[in-house]
Amino acid sequence: MSDEVQKAQAAQPGGDTIFGKIVRKEIPADIIYEDDSCLAFRDVNPQAPVHFLVIPKKGIPQLSKCEDDDAGLLGRMMLVAKKCAEKEGIAENGFRVVINDGRDGAQSVYHLHLHVMGKRQMAWPPG
Ligand code: AMP
Repeated sequence: MSDEVQKAQAAQPGGDTIFGKIVRKEIPADIIYEDDSCLAFRDVNPQAPVHFLVIPKKGIPQLSKCEDDDAGLLGRMMLVAKKCAEKEGIAENGFRVVINDGRDGAQSVYHLHLHVMGKRQMAWPPG
């Protein structure tokens, strides 16, 4: 079992997270994009030559806790992913977007995030 999966199995939903601290600028991150509702920053443990995360500033814990009212924000996150992929030079050859949800999905940080990865050939099925 990978370290990341072990971390995910130990992670508990609820409360403030490290991503909340990044949104509030209490801890540093390599931020590549910011607007009123979303933030994108590089993953500290990249799984591809380009690997960044897109998060809402609103502290939604996970996709399965989203509600109908979150539709606009979810759409906005996808468009931020696309814009940042262009800026990072991965849009032309393609890239992968992943949301890990809950324990079986190997989610380790309970603040909703899109993983955006590129600049290498991805495999399928994922692990
Ligand atoms: P997940 O397993 O889907 O919850 O992904 C959480 C991701 O957050 C992992 O890929 C971590 O490497 C990444 N991560 C954790 N802490 C930080 C941090 N302080 N700055 C950037 N990325 C982080």
